[in-house]
Order: sequence, then structure tokens, then C-alpha cells
Amino acid sequence: MTTASNTPPASPVSTDVLIIGAGPVGLFAAFEAGVIGLSSLIVDNIERVGGQCIELYPDKPIYDIPAIPSCTARELVDRLLEQCRPFAPPLHLGHRVETVERLDSGRWLARTDKGLTFDAAAILIAAGNGSFVPQRLQLDEAAALEDHHVHYSVRNLDDFAGKKVVVAGGGDSALDWSLALRTVAGRVTLVHRRNGFSATDSSVANMRRAVEAGEMDFAVGTIASLNAPGGQLESIDIRQAEGTAQLATDHLLVLFGLVADLGPIAQWGIEVQGGRITVDTSNYESSRPGIFAAGDIAGYPNKQKLILSGFHEASLALRKAYSYAFPDKKRVHIHSSYDAKLAERVAASHA
Ligand SMILES: Cc1cc2nc3c(=O)[nH]c(=O)nc-3n(C[C@H](O)[C@H](O)[C@H](O)COP(=O)(O)OP(=O)(O)OC[C@H]3O[C@@H](n4cnc5c(N)ncnc54)[C@H](O)[C@@H]3O)c2cc1C
Repeated sequence: MTTASNTPPASPVSTDVLIIGAGPVGLFAAFEAGVIGLSSLIVDNIERVGGQCIELYPDKPIYDIPAIPSCTARELVDRLLEQCRPFAPPLHLGHRVETVERLDSGRWLARTDKGLTFDAAAILIAAGNGSFVPQRLQLDEAAALEDHHVHYSVRNLDDFAGKKVVVAGGGDSALDWSLALRTVAGRVTLVHRRNGFSATDSSVANMRRAVEAGEMDFAVGTIASLNAPGGQLESIDIRQAEGTAQLATDHLLVLFGLVADLGPIAQWGIEVQGGRITVDTSNYESSRPGIFAAGDIAGYPNKQKLILSGFHEASLALRKAYSYAFPDKKRVHIHSSYDAKLAERVAASHA
């Protein structure tokens, strides 16, 4: 897989099929597109592939993928990446597709929040429950401080060098970033609402060891308010069982996990019901010809939100998408077991 450059080129990146979403269904779709002779690229809002499998349950076993009696969600994503490697679909991660418009040529122009544009014959939306976005701190004063003093991710550790940093959260990200930041920050305090964590045992053990060694602090409590006179964060108030404590703070890193947000998809002029894109089950096309939906985002009677359903939906959608990419060509069906070109590509990708 190739992680594509995120610097917007002067003209749109052209492809047969733009796949929105790098969850299991988007990844399989990239493979399937290659098999039937379509170029594709994948865009995802977050910086890593795998969708719900990686964000919500990476180490849980999955038992209902055909011919794989058991594998963890992370292993499944690794296998899907390996499967689409022969076609090396470019991955544009950290981009949320914001707008989609039909061109006079009948093709589609899609634009991301960071200014990347794509020109595609068809679009396959494999966006799950929507794009994953950080769960924000529910305090009015937090929004104005976002990116300057209140952060939902770490772009560069050095931004925190020598500063007093509070990390809020109790999952792997909160613990791992607390541990990483303690090496550069002036002081790190992890704040969590209880003295128990939803992180791996090793991260919890490492954090407790660092606290005992005096390398960082841990406080049980919830963030009650931010004190930022003149827009400069100076301290935060933490509500604790015994009262409210004030903690001097330069930066607050909030790692409460991700939530799915349908976001811009609702504005693309396609029929959406109950947060799902209505599709025709003979080809998984939406109400706008040329735009398809597969996986959890697709809605139809008796829809099952299962990975294997998404694989089937993507596969049928791409067969119809072919007619938009090559309107004058008749697609010839070849079983993969008889597809000599595919065999060559697969062999080359393992060489
Ligand atoms: C705890 C748990 C256990 C599960 N166990 C199983 C199981 O055992 N078997 C099974 O079959 N299923 C299971 N599922 C369900 C399964 O994970 C989903 O059906 C599957 O992840 C759907 O895949 P998807 O590719 O459609 O969407 P997702 O995995 O949700 O991926 C969608 C991706 O699209 C991106 N995206 C959305 N909007 C945009 C946008 N505008 N621009 C850019 N990117 C965007 C998102 O950031 C996300 O990464 C489980 C789910 C959970 C939560």
C-alpha cells in the first residue's frame, strides 16, 4: 500500500473509483476494484487504516469471516492490507471528504477538508457510521482554546517541551501519550475519572511505575473548568471526591476516544435514512447514479452490519461502477482462480 502525499497537487487526482473509508470494507473494495480492472484510491479521515476494527476492538477475536476460523480485528486488517497490496491503491489518510459534486463530463469531483481534490468515474462510500472524530471536552471555554492550549491529538512532541501538560482519559492513547510526554514536558499529570483504566495491562503497569518513580503524576477526578484569562490557559479545576483541586497547566491533551459522525455525507444530495445511505440491493448504488455505498453505511431492508455483508456489497457495487469508468467496454467475468494476470500480480507483490 502506498501512503500518498497529502500536499494538494494543482489538479485533481484522477481515478476510476474513489473509495471513502479505509475500514475493512474500503480495503477489500480496493482489492476487488483491482481484480476487475479498475484503479482506485482510498481516503480516510483518520491517520490509520482499519476503521472500527482498529479504533474500537483491535485485539478482540472475530469468528465469522469465511474461511478464517478466528483472527483478531487487527490481524484481519493486516490480511486485507496484504490482499490489496498487488494493486497498491494510494491511501490518503487524515483527510475527510467534505464535498462531492457532479462534473459536466459525468465524473465526480470530491474535495477534502485539507484541499485535496479527486476526479473519479464513480464513488464508493464505505464510511461505516461516519468519520471518526475525537470526543471533545464538554466545556464551553474549551472550543476557543482548541489547538493552542486544548488538544485532541499530538502532532509534534516538541510542542510540549518544558510545559506543564495535563492528559485527560483512561484508554491506551491517554496512558501511552502520558508516558511519551513525560520525557519532554516539564511535568505531566494524567487525570482520569477513576483509578481503573480501559488500557492494556502493560500500559497501566508502565504508567503506575512512572508515577511511583516520580516521573509523572496521576489524579483521579473530572475536569470541571479551564482558567484561561486572555486566552492563555493557566490552570484547570479538577472535581474530586474531596472537593475541587486546581492544577497549573499550560496544555491540556484530551484523549476521550473517538466518536463516529456522519458529517458531510448528509449534504451530498443522496437519500439518507436513519443515518444510512439508501441503496438498490442489485448493485448498491445510491439515489445518485455513480455513487455507491457498502458496509455499515449502506441501508436496505434486513441490512446486517457485518464485515462479510460489506464485502459482498462492495463487490457488486464495483461491477456496476465499471460501467461508469468504461461505458463502451463490456466487462468479462473471470474467476480469480483462472485469472493469469491476477496470479502474476499477486506473485510479484510477494517477490
Ligand atoms: C466491538 C465490535 C465488535 C464487532 N465484531 C464484529 C464481528 O465479530 N464480526 C463482524 O462481521 N462485524 C463485527 N463488528 C462490526 C464491524 O466492525 C463493522 O461491520 C465494520 O467495521 C464495518 O466496516 P466499514 O468498512 O463499513 O466501516 P468502518 O469500519 O466504520 O470504517 C469506516 C471508515 O470510514 C471513514 N470515514 C467516514 N466518513 C468519512 C469521510 N467523510 N471522509 C473520509 N473518511 C471517512 C471513518 O473514519 C472510518 O475509518 C463489530 C463492531 C464492533 C464495534
